[in-house]
Amino acid sequence: MTAGAQDISDLLERVPEGLLIGGHWSGTDTRFPVENPATGTTLAEVADAGADDARAALDAAVAAGPAWAATEPRARAEILRRAFDLIIEHTEDLALLMTLEMGKPLAEARGEVTYGAEFLRWFSEEAVRISGRWSVAPTGGTRLLTMQQPVGPVYAITPWNFPLAMGTRKIGPALAAGCTVIIKPAAQTPLTTLALADILTRAGLPDGVLNVLTTTRASQVSAPLLADPRLRKLTFTGSTAVGRKLIAQAADQVLRVSMELGGNAPFLVFADADLDRAVDGAMLAKMRNIGEACTAANRFLVHESVAPEFSRRLAARMAALRVGPGVQDGVQVGPLIDAAAVDKVSALVDQAVDAGASVLTGGDRLDGPGHFFAPTVLTQVPPDARLFAEEIFGPVAPVATFTDDDEAIALANATEYGLVAYAFTNSLTRAITVAERLESGMVGINQGIVSNPAAPFGGVKASGLGREGGAEGIEEYLETKYVGIAL
Ligand code: NAP
Repeated sequence: MTAGAQDISDLLERVPEGLLIGGHWSGTDTRFPVENPATGTTLAEVADAGADDARAALDAAVAAGPAWAATEPRARAEILRRAFDLIIEHTEDLALLMTLEMGKPLAEARGEVTYGAEFLRWFSEEAVRISGRWSVAPTGGTRLLTMQQPVGPVYAITPWNFPLAMGTRKIGPALAAGCTVIIKPAAQTPLTTLALADILTRAGLPDGVLNVLTTTRASQVSAPLLADPRLRKLTFTGSTAVGRKLIAQAADQVLRVSMELGGNAPFLVFADADLDRAVDGAMLAKMRNIGEACTAANRFLVHESVAPEFSRRLAARMAALRVGPGVQDGVQVGPLIDAAAVDKVSALVDQAVDAGASVLTGGDRLDGPGHFFAPTVLTQVPPDARLFAEEIFGPVAPVATFTDDDEAIALANATEYGLVAYAFTNSLTRAITVAERLESGMVGINQGIVSNPAAPFGGVKASGLGREGGAEGIEEYLETKYVGIAL
């Protein structure tokens, strides 16, 4: 059902607008507006934190640290589990909030609520399984004990494209491990993080364990935290360009870092693939989140024998999508995050077309208000087109062809990124061989979506360091201590 104006204003009234520091919500002298990308109108104004607020948040996280680390794992788990239940209970509110501030259609926003909440349930289960090892030294005598302890205060920086899930993927494992957290959401989508913090507080999280800094001054707020030896961990999801800068800054304190950065996913369709399945997978891998996902298929590499048919079917599906404000019933493609995003996508498409690509459907921005771009399929895209080298982050599917498996793998790996790759084939041997040869942290075989809270999400090469989710996710927030015991 389409959300009404009254529902929206009631919902916005309930979202906190201040900073959460040491368990207290507080205002700031200046505030900044949050825009609805479907209309260009202001939804709310929130506190604009500065460097002093960041220091206060770190003081609070440090003060709360020892008690939280000493809290029984079961008690930490129960708080996460209660927060999971509360998120699910408030699915409609959280979904609407994400649609309003980020633009994704309501059906997708509901999907993100389930996906995002699941990280809290998953890590509530992991909290009670933190363990160590006991062994005898090979020379006998000495006993080797290893234990795992919380890293310490964590600074988490999240992007705008998955406002809930990018937060819970960090907060869930950090809290489960016994770490305290300061989170800085993207300036374009702070409201969901504020609502999430409110839920965690209501679930019983003690004061200071989670602190929230909303700000338009990301680097001014981050600098004092990264320079302070009391901070022990930086976890970041965002662009590779910003990730590189943060890694350099983190070097001074030899800070532990987890980096979930950009992607440039190849989507391989082999001659023996089930084309119906490949087109279904392509729609998911390309159009989830309006194409604004690090996992979005960025390069469709299709065997020359099936490329015309695959492209025709994909174009028909893309052309049939309904574009509009995400709050409207039946809308499948929402607006891009801002005008600059539309300009970027438009420039990439124009450059490819100038270089010889053909437009099967779409190709242009759509009339406003709001920042819309038509679902687009391009064929005969030359390999040196800019959109094969850069993240498109929009609803554009460029198709190029290959002649054999070696060429497919060489094209797929010809990028500095290595987050995820997709391959469609009916041959088990080819699926395994290709998965082994692809330079990426994740591979989807005959499926266009790989994200799963129970699986380790993350990239290689310029796509990042570390993993989120799965049994690996909590390791990012634990230090291993070894104790040698002489007998
Ligand atoms: P971004 O520009 O790198 O921003 C990400 C976050 O970093 C935002 O909170 C931003 O704050 C903050 N930031 C920017 N400059 C900073 C600085 N100098 N110091 C400290 N913080 C800084 O990325 P984005 O445009 O929001 O997100 C899209 C990118 O995220 C894409 O590249 C996408 O692939 C990547 N991503 C990766 C994953 C993954 O798991 N690998 C998942 C989702 C997204 P402001 O909002 O105030 O600028």
